[in-house]
Amino acid sequence: MAIIMDGKELSKKIRAEIKEEVEKLNKKNIFPKLAVIMVGNDLASKVYVKSKNKACKEVGIEYEEFLLDENIKMEELLEVIEKLNSRDDIHGILLQSPIPNQLDIYTAFETIDFRKDVDGFNPINIGRLALKRYTFISCTPYGVMKLFEQYKINLKGANVVILGRSNIVGKPLSQCLLNEDATVTICHSKTKNIEEITKNADIVISAIGKPRFVKENMIKKGAVVIDVGINRLEEGLVGDVDFEKVKEKASYITPVPGGVGPMTIAMLLHNVVIATKYIEKDKM
Ligand code: NAP
Repeated sequence: MAIIMDGKELSKKIRAEIKEEVEKLNKKNIFPKLAVIMVGNDLASKVYVKSKNKACKEVGIEYEEFLLDENIKMEELLEVIEKLNSRDDIHGILLQSPIPNQLDIYTAFETIDFRKDVDGFNPINIGRLALKRYTFISCTPYGVMKLFEQYKINLKGANVVILGRSNIVGKPLSQCLLNEDATVTICHSKTKNIEEITKNADIVISAIGKPRFVKENMIKKGAVVIDVGINRLEEGLVGDVDFEKVKEKASYITPVPGGVGPMTIAMLLHNVVIATKYIEKDKM
């Protein structure tokens, strides 16, 4: 039976450390502040934005929300971003995705000042991650890496298979793992015989958004299994992994909920503190 990797507990510890950091900054008259932009009325986004607001409040990070009409034009969105780029009191800027189809999310991410890009989606930060230079690491991959660190999972030379190649999870996570000397394979919807690939992996990470896709016959005994997926079913939230069965075969496994999800928010708060220090240092 696998050891459960408790993201909820680890995120509590990280948030407590962040709270202390924020208090230290406050004593120097520095007040970290996150701006969140949301366009339209996507229901899931509303839930995420609300939980980000709550998490910021809990650690003392100031928070300002910009709710924009779903019919907004691209120039208007860019204008909001540029204003936030130039505001001295804002240290982090986050654009909640998805945004409506008439808008170009890549141009929007590119417009966010890379020093305030706490989601790590600006191409400068993506490039820096690839070059293993200082950067913001996007929050979900960063959260997964923290879980590996906490549970002392050996990554050097490990054979890691990632299911999913999205720009926000699969791709940046593959860079993080490569930077730690893992051997990384990425699978996607066109990959053939996925189970033949996952069966040889020391670590399987699933980020595809398909409920209980990863079955016990797809992993080798003793593998580490990380479930990034969040699928809303009538029975509640379930991951991409058939948790009850896979946990009998894996050595470590993350639950859903309570695994990667809470880590994502903790790493966002961490990135806001990093952005604050970076920007305030520049002003001195
Ligand atoms: P996404 O942009 O929809 O990407 C999904 C990826 O999965 C794509 O690369 C897709 O392949 C691949 N895929 C889909 N079906 C597949 C299949 N049957 N076999 C192999 N690959 C398949 O999703 P995302 O934004 O990365 O999110 C993935 C999941 O993680 C979702 O459930 C999301 O809710 C969750 N998530 C959780 C957190 C968290 O904090 N825990 C954060 C972000 C996302 P193609 O590229 O070929 O289409």
